[in-house]
Amino acid sequence: MLNKKTVDDLQVKGKRVLVRCDFNVPLQDGAITDENRITAALPTIKKLIADGGKVILCSHMGKPKGEAKPELSLAPVAKRLSELLEKEVVFAKDDNVVGENAKAAVAAMKDGDVVLLENTRYRKEETKNEENYSKELASLADVFVNDAFGTSHRAHCSTVGVTEFVSESAVGYLMEKEIEFLGNAVNNPERPFVAILGGSKVSDKINVINNLLEKVDTLIIGGGMAYTFAVAKGGKVGNSLLEEDKVPYAMEMMKKAEEKGVKFLTPVDTVITKEFKNDTEFKTVPTGEIPDEWGGLDIGEETRKLFADAIMGAKTVVWNGPMGVFEFENFAKGTKAVAEAMAQIDATTIIGGGDSAAAVNQLGYGDKMTHISTGGGASLEFLEGKELPGVVAVDDK
Ligand code: AMP
Repeated sequence: MLNKKTVDDLQVKGKRVLVRCDFNVPLQDGAITDENRITAALPTIKKLIADGGKVILCSHMGKPKGEAKPELSLAPVAKRLSELLEKEVVFAKDDNVVGENAKAAVAAMKDGDVVLLENTRYRKEETKNEENYSKELASLADVFVNDAFGTSHRAHCSTVGVTEFVSESAVGYLMEKEIEFLGNAVNNPERPFVAILGGSKVSDKINVINNLLEKVDTLIIGGGMAYTFAVAKGGKVGNSLLEEDKVPYAMEMMKKAEEKGVKFLTPVDTVITKEFKNDTEFKTVPTGEIPDEWGGLDIGEETRKLFADAIMGAKTVVWNGPMGVFEFENFAKGTKAVAEAMAQIDATTIIGGGDSAAAVNQLGYGDKMTHISTGGGASLEFLEGKELPGVVAVDDK
């Protein structure tokens, strides 16, 4: 159980509540193309409004690297949030984030009002967790709520530093939900427990593989990272993605799986091409027999069946990372097969954010999953067994 204060433990009537959200949504020509992160933040915001708090929202957007970049302004989020809440959200346009405009907007607030600050990363101190900016943010508020799961693996001013300079801090509902689902799945799973990892690099997921081998019944590896395992098994992978320096690690992990009695599944066949693009000749070959000048872009049909069968028998499934270059239609079949199998089963199914979440939503399986995490990097660190600084910093119950 989460041993941290939550919004249910706070008395916010008449108090200024600074809420760190993750409104880092994708934008195209100023329009929001996926608003999942905004809707995910609504329960906490609505609760604080209903309780009569003065609700001051903040978030980062992209990587402005300490500069006020207009294309990374949170203005479009304020507009959409107003529509979703059916209530005015005052946008405190302010290149200094906590400058004169923001201070004036907060000073004018009545109970139940909502203000959204400008992109917290317009200030270079943010990502360095510098005290002066943490104090400035805290000066706007009495209480701090962290509901930004997607940024909770980063110790920044608006996620960690600020907690030192407010009288009380708590986690929001989204944060609570994310930790409950991911935590239960990993630490108290209904078995069989199957984890599926994909994506481009073994090096990004070294600690995840190592930690999950302590927990799961079956570990499935697909995507670009699978070729390093194919080489570790003595296969040839042509010009597929390969991290040669990680081959010994791949061997070690396969040995660990055997010792622990964990079923370790890697692709048996692979869809290969000579060029890295959608419209090009492709064929399917056994995974360890990829000719020179050819490289793998997706798992093959036999592997799709092998992985789907393993998923079908599971009671808990956690998935992070695509099975192939799913951005190319011709090489999205493996990723689709995993999403489809997960959508069909009667089990706890968790998607660990990032590309797999985008794929599941695009395919229309979003509402078939138990939980889709709003944080790719944060959920990976959670799966590594790490403590998240943004959660640790919040007051204990
Ligand atoms: P990551 O950022 O590590 O989660 O990896 C996601 C990326 O891995 C996606 O953009 C995929 O296109 C890419 N990917 C998956 N499988 C392959 C592959 N076989 N070859 C090259 N890239 C891949």
